[in-house]
Amino acid sequence: MPIQRLPNQLINQIAAGEVVERPASVIKELIENAMDAGAKMIEVDAEQGGVRLMKVRDDGCGIPYDELGLALSRHATSKISCLADLETVASMGFRGEALPSISSVSRLELISRTAEAECGWSISTEGQDEQFEPKPATQQIGTTVNVQDLFYNTPARRKFLKTEKTEYGHIETALKRLALGRFDIGFSLRHNQKDIFKLKPANSKSDKEYRIGLVLGSNFIENSVIVDFETAGLHLWGWVGLPTFSRSQADMQFFYVNGRLVRDKLVSHAVRRAYQDVLYHGRQPVFILYLELDPAVVDVNVHPAKLEVRFRDSRLVHDFLYRALYKTLAADRPGMPDESVQDLDTTTIPPVAHSRRMLPAQAPLPLNVAEAIETYGELRDERRPTPPDVVSNKKVEDDDSIPPLGYAVAHLHNIYILSESKNGLVLVDTHAAHERITYQKLKQQNDAEDVLSQPLLLPIRIQVSEKDAELSEGFHNEFKRLGMEVDRSGPETLVIRSIPVLLDGVDPETLLRDVLSDLNQYGESSRIEEVRNQILSSIACHGSVRAHRRLTQMEMNHLLREMETTEFSGQCNHGRPTWVELSKNDLDRFFLRGR
Ligand code: ADP
Ligand code: MG
Repeated sequence: MPIQRLPNQLINQIAAGEVVERPASVIKELIENAMDAGAKMIEVDAEQGGVRLMKVRDDGCGIPYDELGLALSRHATSKISCLADLETVASMGFRGEALPSISSVSRLELISRTAEAECGWSISTEGQDEQFEPKPATQQIGTTVNVQDLFYNTPARRKFLKTEKTEYGHIETALKRLALGRFDIGFSLRHNQKDIFKLKPANSKSDKEYRIGLVLGSNFIENSVIVDFETAGLHLWGWVGLPTFSRSQADMQFFYVNGRLVRDKLVSHAVRRAYQDVLYHGRQPVFILYLELDPAVVDVNVHPAKLEVRFRDSRLVHDFLYRALYKTLAADRPGMPDESVQDLDTTTIPPVAHSRRMLPAQAPLPLNVAEAIETYGELRDERRPTPPDVVSNKKVEDDDSIPPLGYAVAHLHNIYILSESKNGLVLVDTHAAHERITYQKLKQQNDAEDVLSQPLLLPIRIQVSEKDAELSEGFHNEFKRLGMEVDRSGPETLVIRSIPVLLDGVDPETLLRDVLSDLNQYGESSRIEEVRNQILSSIACHGSVRAHRRLTQMEMNHLLREMETTEFSGQCNHGRPTWVELSKNDLDRFFLRGR
């Protein structure tokens, strides 16, 4: 076959292969266009899973009469006009591909009216290029796009569509994700003439929470903490689930970069690291996070569906995310206010109610908790502050000197500490709390001391790429600090001479290869630390508790005071909670008091 130019129609259909995978992707593109047009309300109507009809109506700026035809032609966009624009693009679209692609595989009608126009104008296509002749149409200011019979002219694509129910499910998911990205816009969804939901622009706290509840379930807010950090042009805000609210799948993770939902490896890595100390192995955190930064420092043009982004300074972003999340999670300890973290800017996020101290919504992990403490004798310390006189007449709720976890009154079943706090009653799982405190101490000790390194009897020689060998050389001192001695002995050969004493039994070659792969991808690696922490955590678990023994009041109070000053002490090393509080109100409710 000789080389020949493809007809426009076919070019668009080929492009549609990337943009229009299924009805939900059409909805996504149309909603993004409405967002770019400054819409305050976006209404979506679908029939038969979107295959028969999808209609998206917005109250945005509209398209002028003489640009209607252009909107449907390939590579025609109002969003960029030169390379410099692309580099700083802040709109969701910029490739000018969506409308021509969609119109090449469906029957599409575009109706639009600008504020200046006296009426609306409409053009239609039936899967082919036409000389569009706009016709007058009834239309409010804004745009309506009607897409009918998707893939009617591309039977091969149509065959890949799933059942109506499945396709509808995808539409609903797509719409919810978009709605979570823009609280300032209202959304509604109808399917087969039935109202599914209506979301007002969410300016108030309860509207935002309603929206989040719709997507993640209503208990997400109750089991999460607010994040809000800003530094060097980076702003991260949102909600992160408490470790006790983790899941077995990564299906509740939403990360928006300048309003665009992305799945980014760098981001997942930073999040994973921040949770590393509080999540039981294999559990996945839950979060909705918004990263806002100058569009010029993030490249959104790296993925066909724009699902990935590239940060100019990926290390800076990684570090910022990790630190912000770590700080937020570490602050989850008694006495730290639930509703705010450091640097919290309350103008962007409404305060959110956190009743999670009541009963954490989680399935218990299969761990043996029926252990108590024997090794607590060492904690006896006569210099510790003693609790106030039990017969003091001062009312507990008025006494500001009472620490957040209060003073112990009993050791129930040798497992739970009961403590009288300012607000009510605190219950502490002794084993879980002690385990966390021991672990944090072990880590601190380990960080403070020089890491003990142990030479390998037979140094291990491994073959790597030249790039990895260079990388390893560059990190030589870093490795040494962590107790691992790695030398380069040839262009593509590394020799491991020693490993940290604590990591005896770990395969050094696998560890080094994993570290190098991290360094390649993220510019840093926490593998050695992670393995070390796993070991310390297990030492803490076994070292903390031996047998049932009733703790003295002094020992219990000592433990409570330590919890108040220990990072992450809200959870044990496996992500289970260490304490809950029943407020006086809660207790009153049990007895129907004050009704
Ligand atoms: P892109 O969004 O990448 O520019 P599209 O094919 O999605 O490409 O849209 C082409 C152009 O049509 C847009 O640049 C915009 O000018 C116009 N347009 C599309 N949808 C709307 C809308 N809902 N409101 C106003 N203008 C729109
Ligand atoms: Mg677009």
